[in-house]
Amino acid sequence: KRQHVKLPEWLKTEIPAGENFKKIKQDLRGLKLHTVCEEARCPNIGECWGGGEEKTATATIMLMGDECTRGCRFCSVKTNRKPGPLDPNEPEHTAEAISRWGLDYVVLTSVDRDDLPDGGASHFASTVRLIKQNVGGGMQALKDLRVIDVDVVTFGQYMRPTTKHMKVEEYVHPDKFQHWATVAEGLGFKYVASGPLVRSSYKAGEFYIKNMLK
Ligand code: SF4
Ligand code: SF4
Repeated sequence: KRQHVKLPEWLKTEIPAGENFKKIKQDLRGLKLHTVCEEARCPNIGECWGGGEEKTATATIMLMGDECTRGCRFCSVKTNRKPGPLDPNEPEHTAEAISRWGLDYVVLTSVDRDDLPDGGASHFASTVRLIKQNVGGGMQALKDLRVIDVDVVTFGQYMRPTTKHMKVEEYVHPDKFQHWATVAEGLGFKYVASGPLVRSSYKAGEFYIKNMLK
């Protein structure tokens, strides 16, 4: 049961709201992820998720479920000596959320899972590996293209023409396309088109007229 006490003025915080807050919450529910921000009822949630004055959102993802095998008396995270099995998709979903939000910095934490033989170490390791893969691979490729003076870059979704063709590995979320557009613009590409339906010839005429006929 939650305790209701009258807090002194300096401990009162705004009720969380705003677009960033709503979006992070929606993504977390969709990807079945948890955060210590919510589970530990952190009073900074509005500011952190909303982006505060610097408009850089921060969230602390809590891995391995929302039930802890310990029961520290100061902590509001749920306790269960035998929590359910780990979500095998959690490492991938965590990497996905981070790239959607375009974070440069992320904090990962977890409940304690004393029920698992390795305490969840291998699950943690594969999460970190996937996050690095997601962020590192695309970054590096774009930097390589700028080094050889490529000015235009387009990102689109591969669609399998027939079942004899390569399989679709992932239907990339539009937010992720937006993230890569921002990264590419930051690297100095003159023209960037990024979205699920974008093709390399997409609006090619528009680009040519705007940039090459100057
Ligand atoms: Fe609280 Fe840390 Fe989450 Fe901010 S990121 S809401 S300080 S737990
Ligand atoms: Fe909370 Fe951490 Fe203690 Fe678990 S180990 S009850 S998450 S403080």
